[in-house]
Amino acid sequence: MARNTRKVETRHGSRNTYKGVVCRKDLRLAIYLRDSFRCVYCCRDLHGAQPKDITLDHVKPHADGGDNSPANLVTACRACNCSRQDRPLNRFCGPETRADIRRLTARKIDRYRRLAKAIIEGSTEDPRANLPMD
Ligand SMILES: [Zn+2]
Repeated sequence: MARNTRKVETRHGSRNTYKGVVCRKDLRLAIYLRDSFRCVYCCRDLHGAQPKDITLDHVKPHADGGDNSPANLVTACRACNCSRQDRPLNRFCGPETRADIRRLTARKIDRYRRLAKAIIEGSTEDPRANLPMD
């Protein structure tokens, strides 16, 4: 994956480097599902967002040794992800947001991952399959 580093324009016109998280697509979708497609920082609903505006953010920054496990990744809008950069969580958001993040990341990822895989494979159940055929 070569698109790990992208230049983005901020509102102030300066250039920041947004380092995208390398993550399997089923795991990425599972984390979005776990977090209800909502930015954990500003609570923006990202269901109707452009794909480039929905990102994964490290709870513990990569620079501080944070890994790419689901327990360390949260759904964030691009604006929040870019404005946080590598700041520690407690310098970017308040205690309520941090409590929300702890609650979300404590969820077992397996069931979301099963659903994510089924969605990607197109193997979710078709309810019409159970209807009698006339
Ligand atoms: Zn946001």
